[in-house]
Amino acid sequence: MINKGMRQLLIWMLGFMLIAGIYNSLKSSQAQKDIPYSEFKSSLKSGKVAKVEVSADLIHGEMVDKDGKKINFRTIPLADANLVKDMEEAGVKDFSGAPDRSWMTSVLLNIGWILIFVLVWWFIFFRQAQMGGKQAMSFGKSKARQQDLKKNKVTFKDVAGCEESKEELKDIVDYLKNPKKYKTLGGTLPKGVLLYGPPGTGKTLLARAVAGEAGVEFFTSSGSEFVEMFVGVGASRVRDLFERAKRNAPAIIFIDELDAVGRHRFAGIGGGHDEREQTLNQLLVELDGFESKEGIILMAATNRPDVLDPALLRPGRFDRRINVPVPDIKGRLEILKVHARKVIMDEGINMEVLAQRTPGFVGADLANIINESAIIAAKKDKKKVEFEDLEEAIEKMIAGPQRRTRVISEKEKKIVAYHESGHAIVAKMLKDCDPVHKVTIIPRGPALGYTMQLPKEDRYLTSKTEILSRLSVLLAGRAAEEVIFGEVTTGAHDDLSKATAYAQKMVTEFGMSEKVGPISLKKDESEVFLGRDIIRQPGYSNETYRNIDEEVKRIVNDAYFKAKNILIENKRILDKLASTLMEKETVDGSEIDQIIQNLNVA
Ligand code: ADP
Ligand code: MG
Ligand code: ZN
Repeated sequence: MINKGMRQLLIWMLGFMLIAGIYNSLKSSQAQKDIPYSEFKSSLKSGKVAKVEVSADLIHGEMVDKDGKKINFRTIPLADANLVKDMEEAGVKDFSGAPDRSWMTSVLLNIGWILIFVLVWWFIFFRQAQMGGKQAMSFGKSKARQQDLKKNKVTFKDVAGCEESKEELKDIVDYLKNPKKYKTLGGTLPKGVLLYGPPGTGKTLLARAVAGEAGVEFFTSSGSEFVEMFVGVGASRVRDLFERAKRNAPAIIFIDELDAVGRHRFAGIGGGHDEREQTLNQLLVELDGFESKEGIILMAATNRPDVLDPALLRPGRFDRRINVPVPDIKGRLEILKVHARKVIMDEGINMEVLAQRTPGFVGADLANIINESAIIAAKKDKKKVEFEDLEEAIEKMIAGPQRRTRVISEKEKKIVAYHESGHAIVAKMLKDCDPVHKVTIIPRGPALGYTMQLPKEDRYLTSKTEILSRLSVLLAGRAAEEVIFGEVTTGAHDDLSKATAYAQKMVTEFGMSEKVGPISLKKDESEVFLGRDIIRQPGYSNETYRNIDEEVKRIVNDAYFKAKNILIENKRILDKLASTLMEKETVDGSEIDQIIQNLNVA
């Protein structure tokens, strides 16, 4: 568009204009003396003015100054009806009018400014476009890169430690490989696949692996590329991206960091970001507009599925949602092995020990450790990476600023293991509890560990006994801490607030307290908008409120002691489960049964 010669010409022009401007202003200020109107008038009266030319916004002429020298002067005229009369009386020989400082000049001046403005803009754009390696006029084109699959092919073999996620992606691969098979049967596949999980767990890698496995075109772009400063650019980029993919079907479109465009609309103060909203709308239109039969799958990844706009998650859009979790000890071992293939390692290295020492580390961290260890070994002029290099790399990583929050000390790990074991064992021991699916001490979000219970069937009614059991399970984490360490930590605060909320509901909503009776004190939440003064609580006596408080306290305390007693009675099981957890990090329901059985037989 703009070649080098043209650009040089523009620079010359700008320079010339600048110099001309400076010269002009210098010249005029040198030659002409600016004087106040009063001085002009007094000079006129004392007969020193020889020549005057008057225009609407300027008077200039010749006069003799105090030292008797002839000078050119300039002054701003005032509304002076007597000027002509005064000039006649003073005997000015030569006075005349001039057209309003030549409209031509002012037009030219304005055009000059506009020109400069346009040129500056042009340069900014030009630079920007150059940096993007693109032409200035291709704003609306998607920046999506088309991956050359033959060059660096990623397959499922390169991704480890997330077997379940891989399993779920396999039928997507199968579909992309032979879409005909699916076409003839007439079934529709999900057209949108959303990978979610903490940063560095391998979401981007998995998406590339799907393309690699299926051997189809892979268009990758990042959500932030769609959020430009100009409204409409993002939307047209989305359109362009889908068009390119359609021309190359079968293909995968991958949008990394989907949350950059897909954030909940109206979430910000003062309404949505217009550009982002348009982009999101365009994305939704495209998602609805193509059939998976066309051989296109849209994949996206995000660390923040919680902030996504609900519209994206509606049926028919990102139907397949795949969690890519933080790896457990077994997963970490697999990931370490994958990356160890890329460097020369001492054969004697025990990778299992490394996996043990890196709780909470994600794939990206582990890849980093291996890489770092190779650098450390190279610095020492070694031929192979040795165990001590890996140890050094781990230490370096743990000490790193962003890691500190995620690293769990051995002591904390023990506390978390007992806490979670407490939940799991009480859930196992109490009847009416949902079966324990698995227990893990791998941190997820703010939680340091969790116990996952899955209901056997959908249920719409819950009995009082069931709620009480649930309360005991919730409080069992804290109870375990108390039984084992004689002390409690802050780790249970979420359990406590949940338990308290449950107990409150029992008393005030479900009428499950004999002392308070079968009444509901529930506030109608739809009236919250009316403001506090309007929704008056119905007039319950202070005594009722006191009873409620007492009842809630009693229920929570009872449930807590129940949990504590169960744990004291089953302390051997608690110890065993906690130590198993420390070792394996994740223990599933059947393994817990096994532990209980073994200890009961012994
Ligand atoms: P995410 O997109 O989830 O933030 P990435 O896919 O960008 O994570 O991971 C960054 C790098 O970390 C990858 O290129 C790979 O080298 C390594 N990595 C992450 N997860 C895994 C894994 N599960 N298996 C093997 N390597 C992984
Ligand atoms: Mg990523
Ligand atoms: Zn807990």
